[in-house]
Amino acid sequence: MATTAFYSNKDEIYNTYLGSDLGFTYTPESTTFKVWAPSAEQVLLKLYSTGSFYEEGAQVLGIKQMLFDAVTGVWSATIDGDLNKIYYTYVIKTEKGTHETQDVYSKAVGVNSQRSEVVDMASTNPEGWENDRHVLPDRQTDAIVWEIHVRDFSSSDTSGVSREHRGKFLAFTEKNTVIPYTNFPTCVNYLKQLGITHVQLNPVFDFGSVNEITGVEYNWGYDPVNYNVPEGSYSTDPYHGEVRIREFKEMVKALHDEGIGVIMDVVYNHVYSTEYSPFERTVPGYYFRMQNGKFLNSSGCGNVTATDKVMFRRFMVDSLRYWAEEYHIDGFRFDLMACHDIDTMNEIRAELDKIDKRILMYGEPWTANDGENGISGEDCCNKANAKKLSTRIGMFNDDMRHGIKGGSDDDSKGFIQGSTHSAYNVIAGMMGASSVTFGNWANEPSQCVTYVSAHDNLTLWDKILKSNWCDDFDTTDSLYISQNKLASVLVLGSLGISFMLAGEEFARTKHGDHNSYKSPDSVNSINWTRAVRYKELMEYYKGLIKIRKSFSPIRDNTTKAVNDGYIVYNGQSISLTVKNDNENEWRMMSVIINNSDHACVPQFKSQYDMPSGWYVIADAETAGDKAIRKFDPFANIPPRSALIIVDAESYEKINGVPTFEEPVREIGLNIAKDIIR
Ligand code: CA
Repeated sequence: MATTAFYSNKDEIYNTYLGSDLGFTYTPESTTFKVWAPSAEQVLLKLYSTGSFYEEGAQVLGIKQMLFDAVTGVWSATIDGDLNKIYYTYVIKTEKGTHETQDVYSKAVGVNSQRSEVVDMASTNPEGWENDRHVLPDRQTDAIVWEIHVRDFSSSDTSGVSREHRGKFLAFTEKNTVIPYTNFPTCVNYLKQLGITHVQLNPVFDFGSVNEITGVEYNWGYDPVNYNVPEGSYSTDPYHGEVRIREFKEMVKALHDEGIGVIMDVVYNHVYSTEYSPFERTVPGYYFRMQNGKFLNSSGCGNVTATDKVMFRRFMVDSLRYWAEEYHIDGFRFDLMACHDIDTMNEIRAELDKIDKRILMYGEPWTANDGENGISGEDCCNKANAKKLSTRIGMFNDDMRHGIKGGSDDDSKGFIQGSTHSAYNVIAGMMGASSVTFGNWANEPSQCVTYVSAHDNLTLWDKILKSNWCDDFDTTDSLYISQNKLASVLVLGSLGISFMLAGEEFARTKHGDHNSYKSPDSVNSINWTRAVRYKELMEYYKGLIKIRKSFSPIRDNTTKAVNDGYIVYNGQSISLTVKNDNENEWRMMSVIINNSDHACVPQFKSQYDMPSGWYVIADAETAGDKAIRKFDPFANIPPRSALIIVDAESYEKINGVPTFEEPVREIGLNIAKDIIR
């Protein structure tokens, strides 16, 4: 069983290195290279003029034998001269053979990731970068996250983005974009008015599934090649590694300039190709979890990284710090976070806290395959173990998601389609999964990501249509709009971190494609004209965001609002009533949702009834931070609709006495009907 011995716990065999200078250290006078390769018999440093052999002027500039330090397991070499924009590889000889590879710690690479590149990082900073600051919420739960794929954001003609920037990082830098021949805002211009606080970018590190030369394939990019390098197909020049770095920073700065934070979707749980990965080529068998010589597969992608081993954990920590410091990234969303162990995630939290405690962290509390995770079930970051994690590491609340809309891809019904079975999961979710009474896998709402749709599975709109047996994706039938609105109230009117798939707010469709990871642009692109077609729905989301921003207890990161709040469920409607100690805000708010086919009298915690009455700020048609009318406790809530009310006394103190001179509600109704027609 020689193989088994070879793939035993390498932390017991190898010396580890905790220095912060792995990779290259550049100065204009010389560059030092360091690679941790304790099992290597020989390591050569190879320098190249270009990032690939087929570029003009491609030549080998030199080969240097690196020196081994047995105490640290590190091979090193120093080359004199200015190596800025020089490409390099390591040729590593181990008992598994001799392989040429890019650097595990690459900061830049040439086209299609074949060679690493030395880059003077300071030279990649766009103008004004020194004044660029993180955009961080005071509390995790202040974040309202909009999940977008770089290419989807602007690849459609409807984006109004210039042709050369469509689908690229630089699309985010274009200001005042509109749907062509209209005044309707798109892209960042649109996001400014929507009110979300953060964008979450689907993978933007270097991934392997899109050929950077042709750029024709589409992929979400959950197939990492170089974790510390931006993806080349999103840059205007994938050949010169420094270009994508600069353009990535320009994207971050453009979003920061508009007050929007940037969250990266990070996929440290596996790599694109086991065999060609720099990890496997540098220290065979070390960086991945293995059993009897076989790569384990809890990622569902052929390998799972060994976050429980010193040097991968170290890599992950260094990598995240690097993105936060070098690129000013404001938060991280961890793909298949249950592949990672609790100690690693808590250590990452502690390390990011040294930069800023407000940097966001949350992830998927599941694996793709629990049976092949290689660590104890007690050690992995799933919901059952949430309480062992920092309160500032969040998890997607799939129980609530399921409760709201039913199964992700099937035609089952959830709460918004009138089901009563799932009310319990919805209630627990409204409380940020932090209520002792209703279920609390989370310590506090700051650990709960409240959502109903993400890039995986059917879009919310497609799911609503499927569960109603409708295949007209462009329908404006009021039944579907009303179900979508209920979902929006449940996400934005609940405790936890608010999260939505880009375009959820304007009935984004992928035409029923439930797994569009490699589907063409025609399926995945944001069609910005839907923001006009479904303007009523979009404005409803916008209004709910305003309400959320106006009433801080609904964004409470602690269990105070949970303990102070009241849920009433009568089999037909749910209400969540939350009080507020902040004297500069409304004193009380009640979110009431009738999911049934019948009108019903609003029910909410009566002891909170205000002597001065209540104002309605959201109803079936509209939502916002301004009173629509005085609340009438005897007026029915229409079928499948929500009502959000705030106490009148504090409303008048803060917003003034509303006059209702115009019959706002009737006008609203007529407009809504016109749009639906
Ligand atoms: Ca790539």
